[in-house]
Amino acid sequence: MTSFIPFYYSSTISINILCLLILLASGMSKRMPHFKPLMIGCVLSIIYQYSLWNYHESVTAENAFYWIRLQTSIICVGMPAFLFVFIRWSDQKIPPWLMIVTSLLSILFLSLNLFQPFSLRYSGDLELITYTIFSGEAASRLVGSPGIFVTAFYFYTLFIYAYLIKIVANLIKSKQFALCAMLTSVLCLFIASTILSSLINRGIVNFVLMGGMPFTLLNLLACASIATALNEKTLSLDNQISKRQNLESILSSLAKGVSSTNSNQFFVDMLLELEKISDAKMIYLCVLAEQDGQQMIETKLVIENSHISPNFSVPLNDIHQDLITYDKKLIIKKGLAKRFPEAELFQNLKAEGLINIPLKTNHNTIEGSLVLIFDKSIKHEDKLAQVFDIFSSRAASEIRRNRLESELHQMAFYDFQTKLPNLTQIHRLIDNLYEQNKTNNTYSALILLNLSRFTEVNRQYGFEFAEHAIITLGERLQKYSNEDIVIGRAGGDEFAVLIKNANEGADKLILAHWDAIKRMINAPIHDGGRTVSLSSCAGAVVFPQLNGHSIDVMRCAEIALRQTKQENLSISMFDARILEDMDRKHLLESLLEQAIKTRTELYAVYQPKVNVHGELTGAEALARWTSKDVGIVSPVEFIEIAEHSGLIEKLGYWMIDTVCQQIKQWNTQGLGFQNRIAINISAYQLRKSNFVETVLDILAKHDIQPTQLELELTESGLLTNLEDCIAKLSALRDIGFTIALDDFGTGYSSLSHLKDLPLDVLKIDRSFVNSLDAKKACELARSIISIGHHMSMSIVAEGVEELIQVEKLNEMGCDIFQGYYFSKPMTAKSFFTWATKSSPTKKQAHRILTS
Ligand code: C2E
Ligand code: CA
Ligand code: CA
Repeated sequence: MTSFIPFYYSSTISINILCLLILLASGMSKRMPHFKPLMIGCVLSIIYQYSLWNYHESVTAENAFYWIRLQTSIICVGMPAFLFVFIRWSDQKIPPWLMIVTSLLSILFLSLNLFQPFSLRYSGDLELITYTIFSGEAASRLVGSPGIFVTAFYFYTLFIYAYLIKIVANLIKSKQFALCAMLTSVLCLFIASTILSSLINRGIVNFVLMGGMPFTLLNLLACASIATALNEKTLSLDNQISKRQNLESILSSLAKGVSSTNSNQFFVDMLLELEKISDAKMIYLCVLAEQDGQQMIETKLVIENSHISPNFSVPLNDIHQDLITYDKKLIIKKGLAKRFPEAELFQNLKAEGLINIPLKTNHNTIEGSLVLIFDKSIKHEDKLAQVFDIFSSRAASEIRRNRLESELHQMAFYDFQTKLPNLTQIHRLIDNLYEQNKTNNTYSALILLNLSRFTEVNRQYGFEFAEHAIITLGERLQKYSNEDIVIGRAGGDEFAVLIKNANEGADKLILAHWDAIKRMINAPIHDGGRTVSLSSCAGAVVFPQLNGHSIDVMRCAEIALRQTKQENLSISMFDARILEDMDRKHLLESLLEQAIKTRTELYAVYQPKVNVHGELTGAEALARWTSKDVGIVSPVEFIEIAEHSGLIEKLGYWMIDTVCQQIKQWNTQGLGFQNRIAINISAYQLRKSNFVETVLDILAKHDIQPTQLELELTESGLLTNLEDCIAKLSALRDIGFTIALDDFGTGYSSLSHLKDLPLDVLKIDRSFVNSLDAKKACELARSIISIGHHMSMSIVAEGVEELIQVEKLNEMGCDIFQGYYFSKPMTAKSFFTWATKSSPTKKQAHRILTS
């Protein structure tokens, strides 16, 4: 160890340079207030060590004096720097008085050191001595008489140490033990080095001056503290970065969520992310819902321990009203479970904190709440504020979208009164079932039921009661629905029952269900003291079974229902044969339309009417159609088709036109036909507002007088709009037409209506004429004839086929006869012949009637 001095001083200088560089490079001088004095200290320490190094290796006294004066100057300046380091390090401010006092004293002692001939230390007699230190090296030092201000300077040093001890006390008080330990050890070293240097100077110890050592140590410690601070900073930065990344991922997910197809997945992702960055124990989304008249909080998604937990609903009681404020944000930082001992959820979770975020849309409507429950007290909730804000509006609009969608779905597919599936939904279900059945070779059934006389209930009890009845019925039917049976509302008073599995014994199954449903419908419905019992009839169909028919299931059920009504039954099954009829109807309809256009297949026939003397009194014109495609079609069939398809209007006017033309021709042929020709007028035709005008136009076209025509109308047709009919018929009658009531004795027949109608002729129906052998029918016919006469009407008997009928009717007072007994309907040509030549039948009738 021959070179301790250069080793020691070069090491301490290097360490100090290194420390200075680290301090500079750390860039912390702005943040750490003690770094600036520390850096000054570093520079001073370097000069200090360098001076001592040269001092100990000096060979002349002047040289040694130069370096020791420099070293002392450094102490003068360094003392306050050292003090300030610790004051700033312990986060205190340097008192101004201390600043002034230390600065002044330092300047004073520095001046004394610089400008006194023998510096601060000495007063004269300087001599350089050489001594040997422990390593065997020679070290120089100066000896001389001490300076007069040295003692004062020592006191100044002591003052500084005293102040440092005060800082130590403060550090203990403020529990800054690490800094305290550092300061104490540095202080001890300082004191030790002060004692050591005084011993060296007195020649008691042979060593080198080590005053720079504590400062070097201090610098090292400062660097170490930078290292740990940096480490902490890095960790917290890492943490911040990862939180930032989470935040960013949430924000980007929120943004992406707009395009997410599955909104449930969107919520799951969001809540999982929120759980991650918030450290919440449980997170749930909830909405307000009503259940049996009670307000409930219903969760839509619950996340606990990064997993989806089952949803729950709790009544919106006092606790929740407190917490789920719905319109404002709420944060309970700690003590949640203690504050709400009754709330089971909080107890189970050992909940400490809660955050409730109302989910507000951009339109400021609140769609629900986001609730985060923590098992630790909440500290940094403000950091999540931005996420909450964005999440809230994003989630709210998502919930709103979902809600609107389901409302739209509800509106589109469910009846708003009964909440049952509506017609659209029933059609969808049928379509699905149809396909399923076809692939699986299975069967389903549809019962279409119609409430009987529901319009009457409406009229009699009022709309509100009717609505109540429908809702009540809807509830009953809803209860009857299950996995296999769907009941929907097909229309105002129509309901549809879909039976999914009707594979075996379908008819029996349908009847069993129908029985049960009928009973539910029949059960009385009460409202405000009023009670009504509804009844219904139904049509049912099993599907798929309609081989090749292009008709849907619902139509089949409707057809069956119509059949039920027509035949006055309770239920009837759809019969595939009906479809054949329908197909024929469709065909005939299009053929008839063509026939009316071309006028080649249609023609009129005429059936004579005779009086009691067998004289021709008139004729009835009847339409005939011989189709080139389907042959002869009965007027009973094609007139009905024409009436239902609307073709009757054109057909009817064609008939009037044809008859008028015929009459004109007969006139010119010299038939001298003075009697009236009766034309059948359908009620559908009469209903047209321009009926009267059109008829008159046709007559004018052919120059025919109304006195040559009679109009035959049926009672059923007249009664639908009695007043309008009366007006039109009166108008026609006034200009010369006669009006006949056709088919009297069938259907609605009621003499009471007759008095209001402008009638001239009453035609007793064929069926009546046929049943004259029954006593009762005879009496009825007799009274009809007498009342008719009483009302100045002439009576025509239709469908007279036998002599006996003629005799009886004649005896009862019947005026005119029409029927096969006299003649079948004939073409115009045959009629002309029949009318001009006398036929055997005509003679016979004449003979009998006049005998
Ligand atoms: P309707 O007005 O009651 O016509 C009388 C029907 O009884 C005619 O049948 C006629 O041929 C038939 N008939 C007459 N005498 C006898 C008889 O002794 N025995 C039997 N069994 N039948 C007899 P048609 O011609 O088949 O007409 C049926 C129905 O078609 C008519 O009943 C009428 O309601 C309707 N119709 C016919 N032509 C026209 C028309 O041009 N316009 C309208 N609106 N309806 C028409
Ligand atoms: Ca008729
Ligand atoms: Ca008739």
